[in-house]
Amino acid sequence: MTETYFQKGFNLKAAVGPVLAQSYHSSVVDRLKELGHEARAGDLSLKLALEFGFCYGVDRAVQYAYETRQNFPDRRIFLSGEIIHNPEVNGRIEAMGIRILPEAADPAGRYRDVQQGDVVILPAFGVPVSEMEHLRGKGCLMVDTTCGSVLNVWKNVHKYARDGFTAVIHGKHHHEETKATASQALTHEGGHYLCVRDRAETTVVCDFIRGRLGAGEILRRFAHAVSPGFDPVRDLARVGLANQTTMLMSESLEIQEMLRAAMAERHGEADLPAHFRAMDTICSATQDRQDAVLRMLGEGGLDLMVVIGGYNSSNTQALARICSDRLPTYHIDSASCLEGTAIRHRLTGQHGEVRTAPWLPEGPVRVGLTAGASTPNNVVGDVVTRLLAVRGRTVADLTAA
Ligand code: SF4
Repeated sequence: MTETYFQKGFNLKAAVGPVLAQSYHSSVVDRLKELGHEARAGDLSLKLALEFGFCYGVDRAVQYAYETRQNFPDRRIFLSGEIIHNPEVNGRIEAMGIRILPEAADPAGRYRDVQQGDVVILPAFGVPVSEMEHLRGKGCLMVDTTCGSVLNVWKNVHKYARDGFTAVIHGKHHHEETKATASQALTHEGGHYLCVRDRAETTVVCDFIRGRLGAGEILRRFAHAVSPGFDPVRDLARVGLANQTTMLMSESLEIQEMLRAAMAERHGEADLPAHFRAMDTICSATQDRQDAVLRMLGEGGLDLMVVIGGYNSSNTQALARICSDRLPTYHIDSASCLEGTAIRHRLTGQHGEVRTAPWLPEGPVRVGLTAGASTPNNVVGDVVTRLLAVRGRTVADLTAA
């Protein structure tokens, strides 16, 4: 029987490795690492977080996309949405002739142009169960790059549903990963989910659990973030918490504690295990990047932070949030955001880009740098190069701090 589902790539790392290195490697980043992540050029000091940029899941997904092109040179190849939330990487994937399919109201709409024998790559975030089933029915070849850490969340959500617990997912209900995760709750009869984005939304859910709010208010507030047929009275009696893998760890822990306290008040401490479960499903790569930036901020001595990553990248947004609590922070998605003495950037918690000029203080300045899990090193290196250029310096001027 012909194989139609591939989850482990095509063993072509040796073939695609040089192209990947050429596309995403950065000698500038290598230089900063050689200097111990801290360097200076004139009165500009740079400090790069110890953990930043591409995570293991993204590395693997991007490699598999390149391997897929190599393995099927003559087939039409599609990608379910962006492979990761980085405009440059997605641009390179498209340049290889891989077509990115935007979201649609249903699987039939999204995969309208996909035919039997075509290849469809599933991104690191995974896709909803309904899309997997639709693609199986089409007889196309699937290259599944869903990250192991996302699969781990799915496993936990499955267990919740199997045991009669509604999955409360700390995540953005419109995010690809959260949609895919939520769909897993529906694979068991009677399974349900509700997505909470932050503490404010969790407070609403807790108010309902404590009997301070009616079911109608929950249905109104979470209309787009609950499973079909959701009944707050029935479906919030037993809940299990899971997280989108890239959320802010500290917030996830607070949300866990908020829900635990509300359920304990409602059902009593003794009965709590029958009504509340929690599983920390923030992935280790997200955790490492958040820890590294917290450590860097804790060490002090920085004047501002530059956070590099796609504007729709959830983990980059979380890094920017951590930084903006402590220092002036500029979330940029590429080196092109640095325009001489001006910078285009996304303000934390807001949509769209703003332009600030001037943004770099005169005289000695210490800039902290980090990048989200979907940001390749070449983008980080380009940012450093431009930053140095603003001060009339080059990479050759970098010396140990
Ligand atoms: S951020 Fe975490 S879950 Fe997402 S692809 Fe990377 S390692 Fe996997």
